[in-house]
Amino acid sequence: MLMPLETGPQKDCTLCPRLTSFRQENSSLYPDWFNGAVPPFGDNNCTLLIVGLAPGLRGANRTGRPFTGDYAGDLLYPTLIKFGLADGEYQASACDGLQLKNCMITNAVRCVPPQNKPTGQEIKNCQPFLTDELTKLPNLKIVISLGRIAHESVVRAINGKQKDYKFGHGAIHELPRGQRMINSYHCSRYNTNTGRLTVQMFEDVFAIAGDYL
Ligand code: URA
Repeated sequence: MLMPLETGPQKDCTLCPRLTSFRQENSSLYPDWFNGAVPPFGDNNCTLLIVGLAPGLRGANRTGRPFTGDYAGDLLYPTLIKFGLADGEYQASACDGLQLKNCMITNAVRCVPPQNKPTGQEIKNCQPFLTDELTKLPNLKIVISLGRIAHESVVRAINGKQKDYKFGHGAIHELPRGQRMINSYHCSRYNTNTGRLTVQMFEDVFAIAGDYL
């Protein structure tokens, strides 16, 4: 029997002292921003879970919705719309009315880290929330992990050994409960500007996911 899904950390979670003080600094500097642990966005009945790294300072940390207002969202959300996984128009705002269909977006780390770099301990502190999603979303079949940190967090969340799950763009991994994980390079500005990740490569990952769903 599946337990009900927790909603992730409280907005003012204090598990990570460095992230807590960074949030507090940002709350003083930018009182109108969200400045909290960003909750997952999407549908609890989803079959697809997309796992990112962490909120961007002026993106998800400002808007309160994963990838929203972040450069990475400018590729992710139109891709979801193209593949029938979202309805509406993405306007880089949590109030744009966009609805995810059959899909949820979460992050390995829920609070914005300084310089976009969480420490190993911060990633570990946040991992139980990912475990909760992987084990309690009742219809979950496919996980798309965006980048190596998301991939390794999922492996840790299932108690797997990293050496048994080699990260690679387009790699497919079997997870417990018949779930599968598909790796993608993160859709970050750096990866798209350097050509490490093209739109075609990103869409190929969603096409593989679509075949399984
Ligand atoms: N915004 C997020 O919420 N997650 C990422 O991984 C990148 C930007």
